[in-house]
Amino acid sequence: MRASAVFFLIAISSIGHASVPNFAQLYRETEDLIKLSKTYQRLENNDEYFANFDHSKKPLDFGTFDFIVVGAGTAGGIVANRLSESNFKVLLVEAGHQDPDTASVPGLSSYFFTTPLDWGYNTTEEDKICLATIDKRCIYPRGKMWGGTSSLNGNGYSRGTKWDYDAWAEIVGSNDWSYENVLLYFKKAEKAMFKIGLDESYHGFSGPQRIDFIEDTPGLTSMLLRAFKERGSIEVDYNGRNPYGVSRLQYFLDRNVRAGTAHTYIRPAADRPNLLISDNSLVTKVIIANNRAVSVEFMKNGKLYFARTSKEVILSAGAINTPQILMLSGIGPSQELKKHDIKLVKDLPVGQNLQDHIAVYPIFFRTRYTYYNLTLKEQLKLWYENRRPLTAAGGKQVISFRNLEDDTSSSPDTEYVATGPTAGFHPIGSAIMGSGPWNSVTNPELKVHGIHGLRVADASVIPVTIAGHTTAPCVMIAEKVSDLIKAEHDQ
Ligand SMILES: Cc1cc2nc3c(=O)[nH]c(=O)nc-3n(C[C@H](O)[C@H](O)[C@H](O)COP(=O)(O)OP(=O)(O)OC[C@H]3O[C@@H](n4cnc5c(N)ncnc54)[C@H](O)[C@@H]3O)c2cc1C
Repeated sequence: MRASAVFFLIAISSIGHASVPNFAQLYRETEDLIKLSKTYQRLENNDEYFANFDHSKKPLDFGTFDFIVVGAGTAGGIVANRLSESNFKVLLVEAGHQDPDTASVPGLSSYFFTTPLDWGYNTTEEDKICLATIDKRCIYPRGKMWGGTSSLNGNGYSRGTKWDYDAWAEIVGSNDWSYENVLLYFKKAEKAMFKIGLDESYHGFSGPQRIDFIEDTPGLTSMLLRAFKERGSIEVDYNGRNPYGVSRLQYFLDRNVRAGTAHTYIRPAADRPNLLISDNSLVTKVIIANNRAVSVEFMKNGKLYFARTSKEVILSAGAINTPQILMLSGIGPSQELKKHDIKLVKDLPVGQNLQDHIAVYPIFFRTRYTYYNLTLKEQLKLWYENRRPLTAAGGKQVISFRNLEDDTSSSPDTEYVATGPTAGFHPIGSAIMGSGPWNSVTNPELKVHGIHGLRVADASVIPVTIAGHTTAPCVMIAEKVSDLIKAEHDQ
């Protein structure tokens, strides 16, 4: 029985980082962000990187690195951190810039969707979802900054279940991805801070990624929990042994600060002498010679560069851009590449297994109770005290996983009840891992079939939708692939 997560989220709307500026500055930056998001015209393409570029010019030499990681996002930031813990020389190439202070405030996340810190994508015209939009196209936010999409997402922590990972292992034909074998990587990354209902043996307590509850909304959170219990639910830790029931939502949260990858893995490693982070650098292709990835080409400040690798290139540009880079490099379905006049290097089903959750937004009720009738300034002040409402993106509080057919048989298939389906913003599977080149792009070690020195590590490799959200699996994938790479290169 398949599991696509549905959770009951009850929304009230809410903001932090070690380097967050003083209140007056943050308030100014927040006002600027809100103004920008109301006036910004989203870009149609990447022309900004190529302004005045003379395409006849040869690329400039950016140097040689043991590893080149493409994309300082959710997964890429972790891989770059873990590889640069050893003596390897690592280049991390990111199209965006360092995340701004305002990205630390989870409750401001939706403002980023219409700024240059987002890639500005839309779906194509849909006939069953996105029907509440003018042109039947959903916006499709993707972060373009340190931390990638973990810098603007809903920061909810939900891994998926044992059934998901055991099915994943079966699909890819490798027990390495079974729940038993991935659990240690979920734990390695995690520092669980919450106590209520915690299923201890399923959590980590010394990793970089703090996981916590937000402050309860006075009266409401306990009322919601009670209502679920009256309907027969039990209070559970949905990331523990039994996902079925109700609980407070667990968040990627460091006190009041969004604990995305920029905060937890990139900034702590950014000053290492063996890690170079190149911002504002749009990767245009991986150069492959004799079936080996030898270098990466990118545009930076109007100039085209190439950086050589002596060991491997790791693509972590996310489930939309990783397949694009693969195809621009000649790796993809031959017919598709032919259409765009790209020389074929390897015929693989890139982009062909793209999947997403369906999301259904909640029904909002207006009552005579007012919880946060506050000005922006007042909300930001509360955020400095680790108080709601800005400590959570979208104000989610309570989560309940259900399997509408049978709550005992397998993974939950329902995570939410509401109206107006839209895209779930959890794209996966566009460079799926699997057993061979006939049905997948990478092998279970995340190496691109038939190409040496090229791996993919991000949401693209996830083979099947899970009954959970996609940040935690990306974190797990990145931790796991880093160990695989270190073991292979003897560190
Ligand atoms: C609005 C929203 C809410 C969400 N809420 C949640 C949630 O509450 N919980 C949850 O678990 N998941 C959530 N998700 C999903 C989750 O955030 C993503 O699945 C996850 O962050 C994807 O990580 P990634 O490493 O695959 O890609 P990303 O984090 O997107 O990283 C890709 C990085 O590569 C860079 N890049 C791309 N192309 C290039 C290029 N050509 N050259 C150089 N750099 C490049 C990007 O700028 C980016 O930094 C949400 C997503 C959205 C959009």
